[in-house]
Amino acid sequence: MIVVKFGGTSVGDAEAIERAAGIVKGRLDRQPAVVVSALGGATNALLAVGEQAAKGHLIGALRGVETIRSRHLTECENLLRGSEAADEIAADISASFDELASLAEALATLGHATPRSFDAIASFGEILSSQLVAAFFRLRDIPAEHIDARDVFVTDRNFTAAEPQIDEIAERAREVVQPVIQEGRVPVMGGFIGRTADGITTTLGRGGSDYSASLLGAALHADTIEIWTDVDGMLTGDPRVVKGARLIEQIRFDEASELASFGAKVLHPNTIAPAVRLGIPVFIYNSRNPGGNGTRITFDAPRRPVSAIAGKGGVTVVKVGAAKMLFARGFLRQVFEIFERNGVSVDVVATSEVSVSMTVDDATGIESLLVDLSALGDVSVERDLAIVAVVGAAISDSSSAMGRAIGALGDLQIHMVSLSASGINLTIIIDGDALNTAMERLHGEFFSDAEKKRK
Ligand code: ASP
Ligand code: MG
Repeated sequence: MIVVKFGGTSVGDAEAIERAAGIVKGRLDRQPAVVVSALGGATNALLAVGEQAAKGHLIGALRGVETIRSRHLTECENLLRGSEAADEIAADISASFDELASLAEALATLGHATPRSFDAIASFGEILSSQLVAAFFRLRDIPAEHIDARDVFVTDRNFTAAEPQIDEIAERAREVVQPVIQEGRVPVMGGFIGRTADGITTTLGRGGSDYSASLLGAALHADTIEIWTDVDGMLTGDPRVVKGARLIEQIRFDEASELASFGAKVLHPNTIAPAVRLGIPVFIYNSRNPGGNGTRITFDAPRRPVSAIAGKGGVTVVKVGAAKMLFARGFLRQVFEIFERNGVSVDVVATSEVSVSMTVDDATGIESLLVDLSALGDVSVERDLAIVAVVGAAISDSSSAMGRAIGALGDLQIHMVSLSASGINLTIIIDGDALNTAMERLHGEFFSDAEKKRK
């Protein structure tokens, strides 16, 4: 069997859901189980209702409920017009929104909402999208059966970021989902949502539908997991910045993780770890371009010296110089303890004989960190820098890749260079305003047409 997951934009409106139906229809012989996100933007809109209610703004909250209600009813009408199911599903949708309105009223009266309430509110998005999609699929002769995902995804009580209980999920998936597939039907369920052992609705955290798909795939030992989204897959560079960014057809899981940490927003690799760990390939496809190649993420894709170029701005470098102390035992421990105590996470580290430099992604509130560090040595801070990364699992095996990377940067000033021991990522810290130039030059060096011909 395979898991086919559609993100919010891939079920955003009737047209998108029609495309999704086509995609699933073409895969019926592979026994698909379908996981869907809420209609694109619905989760944000629902959470905004929660925020309004928590502030005691009843009118605003109810207005929000009505806007989301009418969107769902419009899509229901567009999808199911004239069918037998139309009235029943529309009634179900309305009943759900009546329930949501009561919930909003209760919270507005309290003027307070707990994470548990937010999960209850957010869950409506996936509950409704999955019902709608299942009903429409049946209209298109897909033998779809709606399953309440909460009957499968057992979690702990950590509301808004609940931890899935892997063994129980595997058991429920075998009990609830497997038989449907074996009878030749297509289970359709919402991602993102779950339930505690004692029956309280939870969510797996924002973007959690990928996680649901991966957990389901792992539980049922799927042959493949397909994540359908609105981009062609992972690219060799940010197409808004570099010319000729190319699709990466196969990428290693660790490379994908590195790219994600640079804001390559396709998906968060951690969410697919449960499946990738079992050797299940995860594909990213574009639902607007169903014939595309997509990107395949696996543990064992070929190791290339360079798979992609990434970058991000807004980086701050903190440098601690302590000529006498650097070789004293425990110096770095002391430095990192101070970071930990101040709740500041370190990204890239480079040491020299007399100093240690660290980059910080989020430099808000680092003043107390700097005061603490100054007890260890001279502290200096440079803001508005950027990181460019050359990501490739075999970059440290290549005798030329590193030299070419540094050479390609030409006259750009380099503040720090770091290559991790795993050798998957060469990171170079440059001036913030040189970020785009650096990405273009690096991408040109490794992925230009001339380079393609050379290979
Ligand atoms: N609908 C949820 C969100 O927007 C989960 C998801 O789409 O993955 O975060
Ligand atoms: Mg998503």
